[in-house]
Order: sequence, then C-alpha cells, then structure tokens
Amino acid sequence: MSSAQESPEKPQDKQPKIQGDGPSIWLQLAVAFAVFLVLSAGYSYVREYVNKEKESIPLSQVAADIAAGKIDKILVEGDSITATYADKTEKTSRKESESSLVQTLADYQVPADMLAGVHIEIKDESGFKFWLLTLLPIFVPALLLFGVIWYLSRQLRGGGGMQAFTFGRSLARMVSPEDEVQRVTFKDVAGAKEAKIELTEIVDFLKNPKKFIQIGARIPKGVLLMGAPGTGKTLLARAVAGEAGVPFFSISGSEFVEMFVGVGASRVRDLFQTAKKAAPSIIFVDEIDAVGRVRGTGVGGGNDEREQTLNQILVEMDGFEPNEKVIVMAATNRPDVLDPALLRPGRFDRRVTIDLPDRKDREEILGVHSRQKPLGPDVNLAVIAERTPGFSGADLGNLMNEGAILAAREDRKEITQYDLLRSIEKVMLGPERRSHVLNKREKEITAYHEAGHAIVSSVLPYADPVHKVSIISRGRAAGYTLKLPFDDKRMQSRREFLDDIAVSLGGYIAEKMVFGDLTTGASNDLQVLTALARDMVTRYGMSEKFGAIALEAGQGRAMFGHGLEGGEMSSELAAEIDKEVQKIVGEAYKKAEDVMTKHRGALDAIAKALIEVETIEREEFEKILIANGVVPKKKDDIIDPPLA
Ligand code: ADP
Ligand code: ZN
Ligand code: MG
Repeated sequence: MSSAQESPEKPQDKQPKIQGDGPSIWLQLAVAFAVFLVLSAGYSYVREYVNKEKESIPLSQVAADIAAGKIDKILVEGDSITATYADKTEKTSRKESESSLVQTLADYQVPADMLAGVHIEIKDESGFKFWLLTLLPIFVPALLLFGVIWYLSRQLRGGGGMQAFTFGRSLARMVSPEDEVQRVTFKDVAGAKEAKIELTEIVDFLKNPKKFIQIGARIPKGVLLMGAPGTGKTLLARAVAGEAGVPFFSISGSEFVEMFVGVGASRVRDLFQTAKKAAPSIIFVDEIDAVGRVRGTGVGGGNDEREQTLNQILVEMDGFEPNEKVIVMAATNRPDVLDPALLRPGRFDRRVTIDLPDRKDREEILGVHSRQKPLGPDVNLAVIAERTPGFSGADLGNLMNEGAILAAREDRKEITQYDLLRSIEKVMLGPERRSHVLNKREKEITAYHEAGHAIVSSVLPYADPVHKVSIISRGRAAGYTLKLPFDDKRMQSRREFLDDIAVSLGGYIAEKMVFGDLTTGASNDLQVLTALARDMVTRYGMSEKFGAIALEAGQGRAMFGHGLEGGEMSSELAAEIDKEVQKIVGEAYKKAEDVMTKHRGALDAIAKALIEVETIEREEFEKILIANGVVPKKKDDIIDPPLA
C-alpha cells in the first residue's frame, strides 16, 4: 500500500552470471574418479593379458637351464628375456639393463659351448607391446588429469569459478571499433546535451591527438561520469569510443571485489597494459564506487582487496606518460562516497554529471527506443513523456519494450498509445497481480488506505495531484495511488516535503480512523516518510533546532558531533535528531488528520468507489472530489508566496 511515487527497482546493468546448473561439483569429481578406477583396472588387465601364460623365472634359472641344454631359443627385447624351451614352453625373465645377456650368462658360469647351442635373437624395443607397456602408465594418468581439468573448467566457466584459472587476467570486455553490431554513437544517446558537449572534446582528442599535443595541451587522463542509475552513463562511455573509433575496454568495479586478494590489482595492471598496446583507446571502469570508496573509514569492512585495487588504479593513472592516448572513463551513481584521491587533478579531474532526463529529453529517448518498433497512428510520445517524470533513460527503454510486449501478446502488429500508458505503471510499480485476491475485509481496508493517501494529496497545496487510485495489487504494494507533479522537479522545498510526509501518513491515519485498528500495510509508507523526515533534519537543514547544518554526509556518516571513532555520531546528538524527526512527522500527522476529518465525506466516497470498481482514473476521481466539495488542483494554482 504505497503512495506510488516510489521509484521502481532500477534495472542493474551488471553482466548476468550464468550459474552452472549442471550436476554438483562433488558428483562430477565422483564421476571422474570412477572413470579413473575403470581405466586403471583395464590397464592392469591388459598388462596381465600380454604376459599371460608365461611363467616368470629368475635369470639364474635361465642360466642353469641353458647349462643343462633345456633351452632352444632366447629372445631379448630390451631388458626382458623370453626363453623358449625344447618342449616349446616359453618363460620370461629380466636381465640387468647395464650388461649384455651374453656377458651376464658368462658371469653365471654358463659354459660357452652350451650357450653357442642356443639361438639368441635380439629385437629392437619398438614393438607395439613395448610402447603399450611403457607409455600407458605415463599417458593414461596424464590424459586423465588433463581431461578432468578441461571438463571442470568448462563447467565452471562463466559460473564465477573460472577465475580460479584465469587469475590475474583482466576480465575486461572489449568492443572494437570495427564491431558494427555493438557500436554505439551519440545518435543512440538522446538528451544529455551538456554531457555530450563535454565528451565531444574527448572524442576530438582521441581522433586527432596531434592537434592537441602540438599546442602543448594536457589532455585529461580521467573522466568521471556521475548520475543516477539508468541515466545512460555506460551508454555514453561506449558512445565516446564509438564516435572516436577506438577500442573500448570495459570492466565493472564490482568485478574487482570478487575473489582472491591481490587479483584485483593484477587485473588492473593487465587491463592498463592491454589498453596501452591498443592506444588510442578507452578504459571504462563502471561502478567505480565499488572499489573507489573512501579508504580507511571502515565502511564496507575495510576491504584490503578493494584498497589494493584502488591503489593500483591510481598508480597506473599516474604512470601514464603524458599523452599516452589512453583515456580512463569511470561511472558512478555515488560520487559522494568516492575517495578524494581519485578526484585529484591528473586523475578523474573531468567530471560530467548526467541528470535524469527532463520532459523534452524523455520524449527524445522514447523516440530512440521506438526506432525499430512499429507505432500505431494514435501514439503520442509527448504525452508519455509528460506522464513519466523521474523516469531514467533505462526506465523509458524498459517502458517501450513493455509496450511492445503487450502488443505482441495480443497479436497486434503495432504498438498503441494504450499499450504505452499501461506500461508506465508496470515499469513504475511492477506488474499487476490480479490473482492476488483480497477478502472483503482486506479490500475495505486497502480501499480506505488508498483513499486516505488520495484525499490528503488532493487537498494539501504542495502535494502532487492524483492521477489514478487503485486497489489492484502491483509488485509488493496491495494498492497504489499514482500522483504526478505538474512539472519536472529539480528541487524540493520544505513545504513540499511536509505535504509529502502527510500524504504518506494518509493511509495509516485512514485505517486508524475508520477501523480503529492498524495493519502491516502501512509499513513501507512509514519507512519512506521516516527516512524523508530524517534527511530533512540531517542533510537539508530543514529543522528548527539544528538549522543550516548538514549533520550527515549521506550513508549515515556523521559530519558533525561524531564520537571517538570519527565516523559515528554521539548518542546525545542521535537522540536530538530523533526528537526533531518526531516533531516533523507529528506536524505532518496533524495536518493529514485535519484533512481527513474535514473531508470525511470525500474519503468515504472514494473508498466506496474503489471497493466497487477497484481502479479510478483521474477524471472519475475528480468528479468524486467535486461532488464532495473538494476543488481539484489545477496547474496554475501552485501557490508560491510572493518574493519578499
Ligand atoms: P547507467 O550506466 O547510467 O546506469 P546505462 O547506460 O546502462 O545506464 O543505461 C541503460 C539503458 O538505458 C541503455 O542501454 C539505454 O537503452 C537506455 N538509456 C539510458 N539513457 C539513455 C539515453 N539518454 N538515450 C537513450 N537510451 C538511454
Ligand atoms: Zn500506503
Ligand atoms: Mg552503468
């Protein structure tokens, strides 16, 4: 039951890891072992068979039998001796390797005339049997071992375990400039005009380094792209490479933090080496915050591996000859946590911020993503852009895709406007779960809960107007109230925050007021509004008590009033903050409660309509408001106090 402005889960652009879902490693080892057993048994059998029915006797016996005249013939193959007796039986024996048979027999005092009577044949050791017997014991285990390693490595590749074999090799992916399929250019990136202008310079340098070098210009080594997830940072970096026509090596920060200590650093070394060989080129470190967090704060558990990797990146960047023609690009959505050493001149000293797209940009992005999709005549991307404030490029790409899926599912050849409108909510809130059936009581509670959000949002002046209310569950929410601002907002004011908190409390208060009881349905609302109230106090300087002081630098790291650790807040300060947060929430609570008491009629009417039809669109909703004496908001009555 959320007041649905909660951002949808942003798609992660990490490479999916293929989890080996084959047999477990133990089973595989057992199979390998069994194969080994069978083969060795087979080998002994062969060996046995070859020597079958030949009695083995000591050399002294052979000597004695020759002396006694019992032996007709002797075959010598290397050190092995086969004696054929007068009765045609064969017996085997072995001699020392160093001395010849004749010599040995003489040593055994075999009379020379008896020896002369024996036919001695000496064969080269090249028979099949010899090779079989000598090489098998060496080759079979070697072959087996090799086979097992090959098999395991095939199983593990891509499953995260392969790194055990590739060790320090960087797992960088390369996009070569000849790769037409993967090649991305600025044309594929809509909006982001300022960023493109900044990056054009980099493209220029990579294309035409001489021009810059001759005039003695120092070219930036590092460019840091900063922006919310899904705003197209990765896309832009690839577009720079595509525009410049240079190889693009990319690796993700999180991949460094994966396995053995020391591997990250050697991967960095390897990556830089490869890129230098291919210069001019671009190295792209995605999600650099995974390795580039402030060192030594203990945040992230003081990961040694991370620090080593980061140090190596710094060392490599410092080690660039001026004009090496390799440019390092990096992307992060958390520039606030980056180690200052990364931002020093000579490293990532160019910083490009990519904002969430505004209405115009959103329309362009939708355009880019509808290039290969047949759109129906009624499609108006401007309207979709208007309805999607806060959407990132990735969300918009997702929206177009969902629209196409809806059309395909219904066997249509074109995407309609209605497909796209439905997709907005799907991207925002997750898919509808119509199968999630509420019982009568739950339905009533959900209806009043959402009606509570909706009425507060409609009445309070700084809250956003309601576009849709529904008690069809979506994603994790049992119902939702869709509010959209009239314009894109870049900044939010204290008044807006207070009204937002009041709107979030609307569901909770409605439940309490109407049913005299509370449900777990409000828990997400409470989390969101508490976090907002806390940020107002600790980050935005919006509390009376503390005023214009930032107490936290994001991520709960204290900037002010820290205790012995240097990072944590003193408990007195924490208690003061909690008090201020409570005060803000209390204020908003009072406001929301007043609205609901005053407009109880409208609340009941909205809830009743919801129970009946489950989803109310804006027009219908405003009719109910008017019927109950609430004037719906219009764009122009945003009330800003006159400038003093
Ligand atoms: P980030 O790296 O900032 O998280 P990505 O570059 O991975 O975001 O963007 C994800 C996807 O979103 C891209 O592959 C692209 O399809 C889409 N996208 C994001 N921004 C834009 C844009 N400005 N123009 C066109 N598509 C975009
Ligand atoms: Zn709610
Ligand atoms: Mg990215």
